[in-house]
Amino acid sequence: MSDIENGLCYLCGKEGADSRDHVPPKAVLPKDYRSEGEDLITVPAHQRCNRDWKDDDEYFQTQIALAAFTAGDAGKALHSKVMRGLDREEATGLREHIDSGITGTTVLSPDGTVDHNYIQVKPDWQRLLDVIARTGRGIYYHETKNIIPLNVSEKPVVAEPDKIIPIFKSNTDHIRSFAGSSFKYISVMGEEEPHRCGYLFNFFDRLFFSVVFHDEEGSWRAV
Ligand SMILES: [Zn+2]
Repeated sequence: MSDIENGLCYLCGKEGADSRDHVPPKAVLPKDYRSEGEDLITVPAHQRCNRDWKDDDEYFQTQIALAAFTAGDAGKALHSKVMRGLDREEATGLREHIDSGITGTTVLSPDGTVDHNYIQVKPDWQRLLDVIARTGRGIYYHETKNIIPLNVSEKPVVAEPDKIIPIFKSNTDHIRSFAGSSFKYISVMGEEEPHRCGYLFNFFDRLFFSVVFHDEEGSWRAV
């Protein structure tokens, strides 16, 4: 724990930050692929502001891990760690929440016998997007040492792979990559629209999000 830059909490913007928070949540970056310092972004926060997010972070990690299963060794490492964690007694609530998003469908052959079963996982996207919005605020703070005021509205969305993969492919100079490419992002600063900035997030080349911060009143300037 080094400096707590100017004592402002990146979540509420008030003084007296007494801890540091990881953005994105540390748990999505597989341990064997990350190095302390280089791969972990931390920003000052109040413990009380930070603690509110613990369950959401765990849910986020689990959903990323489910998607990362086919994403090379780093993805498999995260997936198997998370699956082991779900067996814990304390994880019952989380497990049930995830199960509630899984639906099974049986496809029958013309003769009425079972052809195949498939399952579909439907995450609680809003819960994931809350983590994405917070990650955006944290990265902005990390890059600029400024806080995005709470009255600046945020718009986190799930990005379609077809649209976002080409952006990552054609902007390789602007990608910041962490923990063996487990997490990558691109900043989109609003040079033409100074009251707007945003980020594109890429987790394991499997799940993509964007978040835009926009000040309608124009009193805030992205730096
Ligand atoms: Zn705070």
